[in-house]
Amino acid sequence: MIVMKFGGTSVGDAQQIQKVSSLVRDRLECRPLVVLSAHAGVTDALIQAAHEAPAGGDNLKALRVRHETLCADLGLDPGRVYGSLFDELSDLLRGIALIKEVTPRTLDYCLSFGERLSTRTVASYFESVGILSHAVPSYRLGFVTDNAFGQASPLPGIGEEIARRVSELKGVGVTTGFIARNRKGEFTTLGRGGSDFTAALFGEYLDAKEIQIWTDVDGVMTADPKIVSGARPIAELSFEEASELAYYGAKVLHPSTIIPAVRKNIPVRVLNTREPDHLGTVIVAEGHPGPRVAKSIVHKRGLHLLNIVSTRMLLAHGFLARIFEVFDRHQVVIDMVATSEVSVSVTTDSDEFLSAAIEDLSAFAEVEWEKEKTVVCVVGHGLRSTVGMASQIFRTMEEEKINIEMISQGATRINVGFLVDDDRAVQAVRALHSTFFEDE
Ligand code: ASP
Ligand code: MG
Repeated sequence: MIVMKFGGTSVGDAQQIQKVSSLVRDRLECRPLVVLSAHAGVTDALIQAAHEAPAGGDNLKALRVRHETLCADLGLDPGRVYGSLFDELSDLLRGIALIKEVTPRTLDYCLSFGERLSTRTVASYFESVGILSHAVPSYRLGFVTDNAFGQASPLPGIGEEIARRVSELKGVGVTTGFIARNRKGEFTTLGRGGSDFTAALFGEYLDAKEIQIWTDVDGVMTADPKIVSGARPIAELSFEEASELAYYGAKVLHPSTIIPAVRKNIPVRVLNTREPDHLGTVIVAEGHPGPRVAKSIVHKRGLHLLNIVSTRMLLAHGFLARIFEVFDRHQVVIDMVATSEVSVSVTTDSDEFLSAAIEDLSAFAEVEWEKEKTVVCVVGHGLRSTVGMASQIFRTMEEEKINIEMISQGATRINVGFLVDDDRAVQAVRALHSTFFEDE
């Protein structure tokens, strides 16, 4: 079996869906399970609809028209494709309007419609062009999560039942990414962009030969092509490299995607629906080092930097524990950490609970809060074995007169990350890209 996951833009209009159908048809002998995102933009529209419902906003019509147009373009009858789904959504939005409150649980229920609708559109189109297929939501295949609405995780031990149910499907199963249900049958979601993660989990449960992530770019790139014109796709990455890249902001892959793939050692291939002949990027357990020391330069903007200083830390134990206990209590997610004997610097991408955490930290340390920082991260196995990589990186920054703060190298030593001001990020990434990738 293989898992073929198509993202929102890959099922964004009739033309793309036609491409998807021929991609699936060409791979029927590999017995694909198709995992889908909502049609492009629909998840955002549903979030908006839920939040505007209490004030009397009516976004349902636009959503309905969007789906009906799609069906018309594909020669499908929307009434038959969607059944009563729009009535159900309409009831839900009316309920939200009455209660005037959107809880995380209600929001997940609302978001569930995105993928429930898109799987029906696509499976119906497959059928209409002679590919035997069924839209089956993930939860009908046994995909059950915990109750963490908005950020749910699959329950342990569900894999066997899923494999059994998938094996009983006749034709191509077209299932929902991103959404699932808990034990009580309430809708949950795995976090934004989570259908990559769903696809990887199905890959794990089914012992798939390959997990294919079909998107709208030629694979994982050497840098963000929107800011670096010379950016190009990377042929191969190791699991380790891909995790670092996804984590530090390469937007093609949801950071959790790699975890299930690693557990079963299944290659993940990132491919372009628009350019299906392009080889894309394959992510494998033991990547080859490749011709260059660095594989990619990623960056992530809008971070907060906290510098926590206390002379009491000198020779004392338990100081780090105290700091991280505060972050834990306030649910602050820490990305990067650097410490010296009397100070700790950390970054986080959300300021939601930060003020409260800083207040608690201030009881035993001085805290300085800086905003609008970008982490720039150079990733590649070659970094581990190449002498002078760090100096090359920092010389480049010196030549550009870009001030850097907080340097960090993970234990795997395949990445070097540092912070710059948001407004220098583009310049920093471009300069590093030309240092490491544009020398020929
Ligand atoms: N439709 C969901 C989102 O937009 C999940 C996904 O596309 O991966 O976040
Ligand atoms: Mg995505």
